[in-house]
Amino acid sequence: MKRILITGGAGFIGSHLCERLLNEGNEVICLDNYFTGHKSNIEHLIGNPYFELVRHDITQPFFIEVDEIYNLACPASPIHYQYNAIKTIKTSVMGAINMLGLAKRTRAKILQASTSEVYGDPSIHPQPESYWGNVNPIGPRSCYDEGKRCAESIFINYHYQNNVRIKIIRIFNTYGPRMNVNDGRVVSNFIVQALRSEDITIFGDGLQTRSFQYVDDLIEGMIRMMNTDDAFIGPVNIGNPGEFSMMELANKIIDLTGSTSRIVYMPLPEDDPLQRQPDITLAKSKLNGWTPLVQLEAGLIETIKYFEKKLE
Ligand code: NAD
Ligand code: UDP
Repeated sequence: MKRILITGGAGFIGSHLCERLLNEGNEVICLDNYFTGHKSNIEHLIGNPYFELVRHDITQPFFIEVDEIYNLACPASPIHYQYNAIKTIKTSVMGAINMLGLAKRTRAKILQASTSEVYGDPSIHPQPESYWGNVNPIGPRSCYDEGKRCAESIFINYHYQNNVRIKIIRIFNTYGPRMNVNDGRVVSNFIVQALRSEDITIFGDGLQTRSFQYVDDLIEGMIRMMNTDDAFIGPVNIGNPGEFSMMELANKIIDLTGSTSRIVYMPLPEDDPLQRQPDITLAKSKLNGWTPLVQLEAGLIETIKYFEKKLE
């Protein structure tokens, strides 16, 4: 049995990770400040003697004895990470330093949830890990993009300078049950709008693309990455290469929900990337044959079921 700390454990991805690692017979400590996470995401785990909840903010040091750390704490939706940009930077940067300090002291392995946003508005398509990215360092997304880029740098330097056992994954747009109704990201927005028969809000002309990964595929990739030998530190892309325009996504969700919603067009947010697709060659070769298994329609059906219940 391993003792595993998951920061951001009450969030969308973190709650799935808590559940999976508990089911595999580990002891799980879920740390969260509940900025975008909710106890309702993990309430079904409360009462399990191997599950502990800690209310804490990772911008402050935290002391505990653990074998592994998954560092997920950070708001991920543009509206939430821009709400308090300085706090977002502090969470990425000071949070990384605090968690790496903990990993250094305990000799724990630590995995950083980095992001495809490190590639910015990419001029190379699809994006391999070797691409350095095209990020506006002073734009509205920079608190998140540069915060995550700086966190990668901090991770790499703790590894080279202090031999900390690190893993970096770059997560591409992930969706699924337990996204917040008010999350603000595109999949949950469109589904909630469709189910409430509200207008579906496409930003820009809807021709921008994203590659959407179902949460179960991400969790599998994350755990496989944590279990690779210490020599493989990443960064490694974890995503589903299936690429869709926002217009295609909106139409798919309208079809699957049978909604009467109409599509409306709103201004494209500043620095919104035009296209995004992961090159997952490295993940496939290093993560023991990992490949995304859930295609968009199947994942959307599960997610729609979740929101139907949530909105009852
Ligand atoms: P989320 O907002 O649902 O989860 C983030 C969690 O971190 C929340 O529970 C929140 O309360 C918590 N948190 C935020 N700041 C904190 C702080 N200072 N101290 C303690 N807890 C804090 O988002 P998510 O989609 O589950 O994302 C989880 C991680 O994965 C994030 O680091 C995000 O950057 C990364 N990621 C997600 C995606 C995606 O598509 N979902 C893509 C790339 C990277
Ligand atoms: N988007 C949209 N309508 C919405 C929310 C988002 O058209 O209601 C667009 C957004 O402009 C972006 C894409 O969907 O082009 C993905 O946005 P999201 O916030 O989900 O993720 P990110 O931009 O961080 O990849």
